[in-house]
Amino acid sequence: MAAGGPDRRQSKDDKEDSDMIPFRKNLIDGEWVGDAGSRNINPSNLDDVVGEYASGGAEQARQAIAAAKAAFPSWSRSGLLARHAVLRKASDEITARKDEIGRALAREEGKTLVEGIGETVRAAQIFDFFAGETLRLSGELLPSVRPGVGVEITREAVGVVGIITPWNFPIAIPAWKIAPALAYGNTIVFKPAELVPESAWTIVDILHRAGLPKGVLNLVMGKGSVVGQAMLDSPDLDAITFTGSVGTGKRVAAASVEHMRKFQLEMGGKNPLVVLDDADLAVAVDCAINGAYFSTGQRCTASSRLVVTDGIHDRFVDAMKDRLGKLVVGDALDTKTQIGPVVDQSQLKQDEDYIAIGRQEGADLAFGGERLDRETRGFYLQPALFTQATNAMRISREEIFGPVANVIRVKDYDEALAVANDTPFGLTSGICTSSLKHATHFKRNSEAGMVMVNLPTAGVDFHVPFGGRKGSSYGPREQGRYAAEFYTTVKTAYTFAG
Ligand code: NAD
Repeated sequence: MAAGGPDRRQSKDDKEDSDMIPFRKNLIDGEWVGDAGSRNINPSNLDDVVGEYASGGAEQARQAIAAAKAAFPSWSRSGLLARHAVLRKASDEITARKDEIGRALAREEGKTLVEGIGETVRAAQIFDFFAGETLRLSGELLPSVRPGVGVEITREAVGVVGIITPWNFPIAIPAWKIAPALAYGNTIVFKPAELVPESAWTIVDILHRAGLPKGVLNLVMGKGSVVGQAMLDSPDLDAITFTGSVGTGKRVAAASVEHMRKFQLEMGGKNPLVVLDDADLAVAVDCAINGAYFSTGQRCTASSRLVVTDGIHDRFVDAMKDRLGKLVVGDALDTKTQIGPVVDQSQLKQDEDYIAIGRQEGADLAFGGERLDRETRGFYLQPALFTQATNAMRISREEIFGPVANVIRVKDYDEALAVANDTPFGLTSGICTSSLKHATHFKRNSEAGMVMVNLPTAGVDFHVPFGGRKGSSYGPREQGRYAAEFYTTVKTAYTFAG
């Protein structure tokens, strides 16, 4: 049994192992701590308790920060092989346990088994990638403008990094923040989203057992308004990397400026998928269905605006309705399910509120939008498609974060590009077309951080930069080699050698 990890509390009927509810503690300074817990429920089956999790307070957040601060000098100077070994081991264990971890992820978050396992594999790939990066960090050696002087440019760890993550990618987002932070020699205080502590705990347990020295990685589960806020208020965090909503992101930014610390924000999206008359209809519908509805539409990269030109509009809408009618919405753990439940009651209410707003605004609810009954009590919603939407409507401007997409009809490519760019966000965008001219023009002129041609707006590689523009993102990109920008700081050293 993992040290202090899977203590198991017995459920009321107390019979079999499967009836036992795991109790997961926080990890502070190498010790598993915490008693008071909160229980998490499976969104596919509200009678299924996933686990009980320690709920840390502000004091635990401060202890975790102190532990990370104490651990920094030695970890940042540790040999590269020590960091490489931990990251490799973590990658190997996640890969070996991908089915089990992916299933637990699907159970706690509601994405399908295929999506849960896929996300788990992604986490393993990220640890593998950054294991390699520990051995590839480089600097520059330049002649100075002054005779006899040499200039060295090197990168050093930033210090104690606070990691605050959302619920929609419970293992991939923690992985793509924790892996580079460790690879470049930083120490960490990690505060996961309240709705998905199991995946967060699992990744920390794996890294802890992989041999991280005490204090290097600290886990404080608990409320954002308590644990997260205590992190923002601490003068001892050197950097904060945050993924979540725009509202919380603004708080992170304000507090970080107050403390003059480095910060990075990845936030919402209202991503357009442009479909032109010359698109391959089957490709366009595949892209739209995947981009708008997979992972129950709960992706920052979801294609929530489908910007469609006149000549293909009606065929596209008919084909979308046909495909939507065939999608299997159900229990995330059922292998036949294609769309899992919404994550919780409050997100479900938000989705339904926006569906009502869309109708009031005059858009036509062409498909779905109603709650569904399934064998188990869960947050099931029929994916919704609005037509006759305009780009000025709230449903086109505000992030809904559910299985809801709007078709916005436009006359031609120029109008499509203008509509696509007319948004406060700028995370991803996509175009379905067989025209090289339009594809090339769109790639150059789309105001988004990531642009897709004949691909869904969601679904990205793990070895290249991830991030957006405008209201979607702030600071250096995440993932791939570009991650070094955030997790290191540059030093320029001059030496006079005569
Ligand atoms: P959220 O902002 O509610 O929560 C994110 C995290 O912030 C959670 O861990 C939460 O506990 C914490 N938090 C809340 N209040 C805090 C406070 N006062 N101080 C410090 N931390 C606090 O977001 P969410 O609902 O978990 O996630 C959904 C959002 O995340 C969507 O807007 C989505 O677009 C965005 N997202 C963006 C990306 C991206 O890369 N751009 C990726 C995934 C999700």
